[in-house]
Amino acid sequence: MAFKPANNIQDLQYFGEFGGVNPSISDSSTYTFLSAKTMFDTFEGNADGCYLYSRHTSPSNLYLGEALAAMEGTETANVAASGMGAITPVLLQLCQTGDHIVSSRTIYGGTYAFLKNFAPRLGVDTSFVDITKLDVVEASITENTKVLYCESVSNPLLEVADIEGLAEIAKRHNLKLVVDNTFSPLSISPAKLGADVVIHSLTKFINGSSDTVGGVICGTQEFIDQLRNVNDGASMLLGSTMDSFRSASILKNLRTLHIRMQQHSKNAMFLAERFEEDGLKTVYPGLASHPSHELFKSMMNPQYGFGGMLTIDVGSLEKANELMELMQERNLGYLAVSLGFYKTLFSAPGSSTSSEIPEDEQIEMGLSDGLIRFSIGLDADVQRTYEMMRTCMEELDILSSVKEEVLV
Ligand SMILES: *Cc1c(COP(=O)(O)O)cnc(C)c1O
Repeated sequence: MAFKPANNIQDLQYFGEFGGVNPSISDSSTYTFLSAKTMFDTFEGNADGCYLYSRHTSPSNLYLGEALAAMEGTETANVAASGMGAITPVLLQLCQTGDHIVSSRTIYGGTYAFLKNFAPRLGVDTSFVDITKLDVVEASITENTKVLYCESVSNPLLEVADIEGLAEIAKRHNLKLVVDNTFSPLSISPAKLGADVVIHSLTKFINGSSDTVGGVICGTQEFIDQLRNVNDGASMLLGSTMDSFRSASILKNLRTLHIRMQQHSKNAMFLAERFEEDGLKTVYPGLASHPSHELFKSMMNPQYGFGGMLTIDVGSLEKANELMELMQERNLGYLAVSLGFYKTLFSAPGSSTSSEIPEDEQIEMGLSDGLIRFSIGLDADVQRTYEMMRTCMEELDILSSVKEEVLV
């Protein structure tokens, strides 16, 4: 395969101002000009390479943005203070009052809440659809539709979007395909499959140490320039700017992302296979039983695997809570939202990260009470992890009750 995202990162070469092997952190909010004329030109966007004010951009943010653009294979990128600080400006830049969005119905709870509750206040309406059904997606497009929105691998149900198929529909109807790739960095390269804009919450796998929030928008130079425009750019005017110290630390963590993703994927695959053998209802794109297993395979950069996210269904919220508390007590991970940490993180999405989605809609999309979402950690001995998790499940009678259901 010609395109290897991690290689693009390894080929980047930045030096600090004194030859340091890391770029210097820009510890300034504003920049001086030798001539007043250059300052004016910079405001107008006509003085390349000049820094003006760090909400516009800063050297540290540019370095991180360029590294992420290299990873996604886009012309450039703009970092933001959070994932939501990347998603909302993109949608507001692409849509005006009267416009319409077609979105996957299984998306991050915050994105869902923005589209469902906030965007309508600005006259932007959204149809939520089953993104795995391309005919349904296409039938939902109206003459006002401007954006097709999805996640490569969806939160929390791990549905997989056919990015090439969606890109074709987007092209035919002159829409922008915006893909949130937070769950599958390196494994899937949406821009290479035809997405116009690729977004990440850097908070998750990319930073990988659960010590900050962050986001990025990867796209064409033209689109990123629009977002940063001082007169009408949504990123510039909504002001979700990342701090230079944070972008410097995320850049350093990004360099080990390929190794971490391989380990997350390896551990998740191991556990998913065992859980499924034990009779648990397990969802993981790497399992042949996943409805989009072949689709994921056809899109993936195989060396990074099927990712670190899996779900199991233990039947009820009560059982889910008991299991999560016991696993935390035995130091198998943390009962916490978010993902992409060295420890395994687990939560019950129906009552936490997806609680923005009304109960009847949760049921319709298959988000059941007993669902536990796992972000599998970097454990060195995943066999031991499995054995300890299995012991927890046996103590709580989870495996036996699951087996009985299967027999009936
Ligand atoms: C966490 C998350 C977001 C939001 O990112 P923040 O950094 O928390 O603002 C968006 N999309 C997905 C898929 C996420 O998991």
